[in-house]
Amino acid sequence: MPETTRLMASFPCLECEATLLVAKPEHREFDCPRCGAKAKAPKRLVDDLELGKKLPFDAPAEAQQAIDHHVESAHVGPEAPGWVILALAIVSAALGSYAYGHSLLRPTQSDWALGGGLGLVMVMLPFGFTLQWLATSELAKKVGRATALIRKLDPRCPRCDHELMAPPGPGTFGCTACKGSLVAASGLIIVDESPRKNRWTQAVASALESERWIDEGGIRTPQKWMMVVVVFACLTAVWFGLGAT
Ligand SMILES: [Zn+2]
Ligand SMILES: [Zn+2]
Repeated sequence: MPETTRLMASFPCLECEATLLVAKPEHREFDCPRCGAKAKAPKRLVDDLELGKKLPFDAPAEAQQAIDHHVESAHVGPEAPGWVILALAIVSAALGSYAYGHSLLRPTQSDWALGGGLGLVMVMLPFGFTLQWLATSELAKKVGRATALIRKLDPRCPRCDHELMAPPGPGTFGCTACKGSLVAASGLIIVDESPRKNRWTQAVASALESERWIDEGGIRTPQKWMMVVVVFACLTAVWFGLGAT
């Protein structure tokens, strides 16, 4: 279920001065997650009827969109080198042509060509689909990893770097140090200024700045073996499928 973006209230921890947050009046008492001191939201904050009000935008969806976009644009899917594709095309066409031609008593030129074409289709289509599937699943894994990493970020005010408590949910609140208005969702914290989209994008970019794995492309060893198995199975199918006609 998507989490509702709410108006939260903030107050400083009396011990460590971190910004503490409360999203619902019934959650006013807790231990400061930064220093462990007992914390209690002031009555005037809790009595405010606006506390916990639903806001007219979906902060987690906005944040996720920025994460997806960042990973997608940096991601290089597994790609096969040109010479591999060319060699594979030649081998599968030759094999198809040979197998089909030799299965007929008097093969004509068009029979050889037909065999070649069939061989090409039977190998290159599954090859392309498998590569595409690998690229898609790799991207989904990277998005998951980036999202999990961002959730573990140390929550700090993006304006003044003041320590914050991890927000109890998505929503807006004020930094108790610089009084800036902030929005939090999914581990990201941005300044509440429009366009928010740009703010999320910047926050994601700086959070994932040093994560080199995002733009690492190429085919990893298990994937290579998978491609080899697919190609081998397809070539076998060409040999027996076309040869037995
Ligand atoms: Zn504290
Ligand atoms: Zn601040």
